[in-house]
Amino acid sequence: MTKISQELFSLFLESPKIDTHEHLLPPERFIESPDILFSILERSYLSWILSGTTGKSFNLTREELLSRVKTIPASSFYRYLIGAFQFMYEFQDNSLSQENWEGLSRQIRENYENNDMVKKWLSGRLNIQKIILDRYWIVGDFQVDREIFSPVLRLDPFFFGYNREARDHDGQSPYFYANREGIKVETFDEYLNLIDHIFQQGIKEGISALKLAIAYDRGLSFNQVTREKAEVAFYREAGEETLEEIVNFQDFIFHYSFQKAEELSLPVQIHTGPGKAFQAAPSLLGPILETYRAVKISIFHGGFPWVGEPGAMALFYPNLYLDLVWLPLLSPTFSRLALSEWIETTGGARIMMGGDSWNVEGAVGSILFNLETMARVLGEMVDTGYLSVTDAQEIGKMVLWSNPEEFFAS
Ligand SMILES: [Zn+2]
Repeated sequence: MTKISQELFSLFLESPKIDTHEHLLPPERFIESPDILFSILERSYLSWILSGTTGKSFNLTREELLSRVKTIPASSFYRYLIGAFQFMYEFQDNSLSQENWEGLSRQIRENYENNDMVKKWLSGRLNIQKIILDRYWIVGDFQVDREIFSPVLRLDPFFFGYNREARDHDGQSPYFYANREGIKVETFDEYLNLIDHIFQQGIKEGISALKLAIAYDRGLSFNQVTREKAEVAFYREAGEETLEEIVNFQDFIFHYSFQKAEELSLPVQIHTGPGKAFQAAPSLLGPILETYRAVKISIFHGGFPWVGEPGAMALFYPNLYLDLVWLPLLSPTFSRLALSEWIETTGGARIMMGGDSWNVEGAVGSILFNLETMARVLGEMVDTGYLSVTDAQEIGKMVLWSNPEEFFAS
């Protein structure tokens, strides 16, 4: 990094932050593992590239992991973790090996046993004052530590309520909630009431936003569908629905959720980019932005690899927000390209960042990658004379604080 970028990086490190998106699991989940380092890597994006899946079937031994890691030394899904280990544990090496594994693992365990990791690293060292937490593994659960976390309502399971056996990509179904709460659902009306009920519960619990990651299950084109068409899949025997009927049902649920978002003044975070069959370019959401002009919509991940789309769209839709989240891990190069364009098109407004991780190590590595992206892009804008140092500093603070504050304000 150039001198000015380094100075900006130090400033951003200290600045108060809102982290727009995490999936942090309880620390016990890692402490209980006999090999804590392994369990941390297992719940990270490294496992995605090593297993060729979205982290769901990771059946490697430590030896297999180490030999596979040797084949992907430049992967950003690996580098961000090494960066976190260097930052948190004074890890001196540039890669994991049989020789440094036990030492690092011991240090991590000591840290977990003696500290509240979120307090020490995220609110302490990184000065993150608020984290928007997406606990997608429990439908309609909003139990989070309010001192730092704020929950979202995950919408994906609602798209799979056409029968009781259907599951979203995280294995979730809205009937888990209905069964838990003893809510009867026999008719399509009752199904919509169940959704209303979960929304009301979320409002009562002070959710910050709605979150949709349906791109892992299907493409992001959503037609306007009549209720009559939508309920066909609902009344079919389980497994007898045609693909077209399911799509109609889901399209209806999408618009139903957005009407709720409008009614209840809730912002929506949408995963774009990687997903089912790569049918999730941000521009597919153009018709949605035309229809719901009063709903604040945040496009996640820069729409990677379509990083040129969201910035262009933000020029024309003032309710569109751009979230760097995860993009710096997908490709640091594309994240710099995206951020440069976004700053030019939005002027610095409406841009945010987040960590998207399951443990503190992942979050630290990810946030550091976000900050480095910002420091490099803004530093270069200062070096070329496009921005003054003061403006570059201010834009950094906007991304870290005032933009997300505005997005999540109801
Ligand atoms: Zn996520």
